[in-house]
Amino acid sequence: MINAEIIFYSLGIAGFVTIIILSIVLFFKMQAIRQLQNEINQLGENLNALDEQAKLVIRTDMELNRTQDELDKKISSLYTLHSLSQSIASTLDETQIFNRINPDNLSRLGLEKALAFLWNEEKAPQLELNVGYNTKEAALILDYLEKNKNAFFALLHRHKTTSSFDKETSLVPSELKGVFCVDSFIISPILPKQGTGGFLFVGTTSTDNPISEGDKESIDILTNQIAQALDNARLFEVTWHAQQDLETKVNYRTRQLSNALEEIKQISERKTDFVSAVSHELRTPLTSIKGYASILLSGVLGEIPQKIRERLDKVNQHADELVHLVNDLLDIARIESGRAIMKRESQDIRLIIDSIAELLSVQMKKKEIKFAINIKEESVVFVDKQQIKRVFINLIGNAIKFTPDEGRIEVRVKPNQNFVQIDISDTGLGMPKEVQEKIFNEFYRVDNPINEEVKGTGLGLSLVKNIIEAHRGKIWVESELNHGSTFSFTLPRSK
Ligand code: ADP
Repeated sequence: MINAEIIFYSLGIAGFVTIIILSIVLFFKMQAIRQLQNEINQLGENLNALDEQAKLVIRTDMELNRTQDELDKKISSLYTLHSLSQSIASTLDETQIFNRINPDNLSRLGLEKALAFLWNEEKAPQLELNVGYNTKEAALILDYLEKNKNAFFALLHRHKTTSSFDKETSLVPSELKGVFCVDSFIISPILPKQGTGGFLFVGTTSTDNPISEGDKESIDILTNQIAQALDNARLFEVTWHAQQDLETKVNYRTRQLSNALEEIKQISERKTDFVSAVSHELRTPLTSIKGYASILLSGVLGEIPQKIRERLDKVNQHADELVHLVNDLLDIARIESGRAIMKRESQDIRLIIDSIAELLSVQMKKKEIKFAINIKEESVVFVDKQQIKRVFINLIGNAIKFTPDEGRIEVRVKPNQNFVQIDISDTGLGMPKEVQEKIFNEFYRVDNPINEEVKGTGLGLSLVKNIIEAHRGKIWVESELNHGSTFSFTLPRSK
């Protein structure tokens, strides 16, 4: 009995202990399960976050793709706009400007329809471009424009580009969509600085790809380009007409001048022929006069009284002067008509000057004139020696004539690339500015005391000028009254 009780209690204790142990084990298991549950919850949350992130990534990717597409579209439309602008800017023909906008480049800008018209308050809109409308539709649109003139001109005066999504427009977008048969559109004024302006209308029927704010900017650029091209074309037109006018006038005047020149040439030829003929005619009797005077003076025909001898001397002297004058006249006439033959050869300019200095040394000594030759560099010229000697005789002779006693004459030689310049300076009477051009004319002599006293023909410088020009040279003078003169001329250098 006692054993049974002991066993019973032992079993009870063992059961109790077991229950406690099991409870403890259970407690720990529960703990583990709760932890696992937490971890599972955490994992679930993480999974959700990951899911959200994945969705975000996909959304961003789609967004990026769309932006990329838009960017591609923008780049392509900018490229089209650039080449269209270039093409518009390259023409100077007003009628060609709008032809450059065609369905092809419009579609690359995402547009199907376009109209352009030049329009001012005085006249009806003039259609310059029509893409996407038949004649009837275009006529209806023009009619609508006329009826809503004020609203359109308000845009023009405000320089405002407007579109179907603009709220504050003076036009009614929904009405315009109907009239122009489009779903979205842009109207941009064309504003040249000069002359009639107008509008460019572009639109699309596409609802997937409607016109955007960016398109508005592009069209704004395009209309600016069109306005600039119109200005250029109009300016060119004005300039071209002015140039045509000028050309016509120049041609007319050139014809008049060449006729006058031809006339002058003929007169000059006739004058030369006349001078030659008269000079020849004069030479024969002059030679006879001189001959007879010489015979009488020689005494072959008998002794002549002193008084008659003096008169005959005068006759001889005057005949000499006349022969001189006639010879000069004949030479000028020959050179002017191109009949004189220039025997050109290479000549050392120093030798020519030396020979003339020697020839005129007596006259210079008489007046105690100091004479100097200044040659920078030995120069060989290609000239007719005898003719050039005449040039020096005339110029140095004049310098002696117009220079007072104890004055100074200097000859300077300066070679240049293809020619040699010779200056003959004196410290003589000089001459006023207004006669300096005239002294090269035939028979021109300045009114001065020396000319009153000393005889002359006024042919020397004319002959000199003709000789120099026959050598393709130039001659000019710089002079100051009472201070002296410098005669300068050029001669070709020997090659
Ligand atoms: P001419 O000496 O026979 O008068 P030219 O044709 O040689 O004719 O000269 C024309 C005019 O030019 C001269 O009359 C003179 O008035 C002026 N002239 C020429 N050379 C000089 C000079 N060296 N100084 C001042 N006047 C000059």
